[in-house]
Amino acid sequence: MPKEDFTHVEAWVFDLDNTLYSPHVRLFDQIEQRMTSFVMDTLRVHRAEADRLRALYWREHGTTLAGLMREHGIEPDPYLVAVHDISFDALDPDPDLRARIADLPGRRIVYTNGSAPYAERVIDARGLSGVFDAVYGVEHAGYRPKPERAAFEAVFKRDGVAPARAAMFEDDPRNLAEPHAMGMRTVHVAPEPHAADHIQHYTDDLAGFLARLV
Ligand SMILES: [Mg+2]
Repeated sequence: MPKEDFTHVEAWVFDLDNTLYSPHVRLFDQIEQRMTSFVMDTLRVHRAEADRLRALYWREHGTTLAGLMREHGIEPDPYLVAVHDISFDALDPDPDLRARIADLPGRRIVYTNGSAPYAERVIDARGLSGVFDAVYGVEHAGYRPKPERAAFEAVFKRDGVAPARAAMFEDDPRNLAEPHAMGMRTVHVAPEPHAADHIQHYTDDLAGFLARLV
C-alpha cells in the first residue's frame, strides 16, 4: 500500500456507518428495522412489501429515504429522527482509531447518508469527538443521497473539498464510484474486499491502514 498515493491528500472524507465502526457490532441492524417499520406504518403495507420497496428504492434511488421522498412525497426530517432513535450501547471508544485520524495532515470530515445529529452521537460513542473538522449528513446535500454525483458535489462544495486532493473511505463500494470519477483516492473499508475499477485501496482495518500513511 504505497504511502506515496496519499501524499497529495489535503482532505480526508470518512463515511460513518460500518466505516468508523465495525459492521460486526451490527449497530445498523437497528436502523434497518426502524426503516422497515417506518415504511410499514407510513405506506400501510405489510413487512414483505416494505422490504421489497426498500430494496427497490435502494437500487433505484440510492436509499429508502430518497425513494420515499420521490415516490410518496414523504418529509425527510421526521423519518431521519425516527430511524436514528437507536441504542448506542454496542459502540465502544476506539483510542487507536482516534489517534490515527488525529494524525492525518489536513482537513478531516465525516459524510454520511444518515443525519448529522445522528453522526455526532456515533462519533461521541466511538470516542472520536473533536477529531473531525466537520460532519455532514444527507440534509447537507438537499436530502439527495450518496451514491449520486450531485450529493457529493453539494457537500464538497460546502466544505471546500478539492476532490483531486482528497481521499474517501467507505464501506459501500457503490459510494466510491463518483468519488473516483471526481478524482479522489478511494479506500474500501470492509471485512471482505470487493473488486471494482473505482476501488483503489482496500482494508479491513481502518486504524492500521491510516497508521501506514503518516
Ligand atoms: Mg457506510
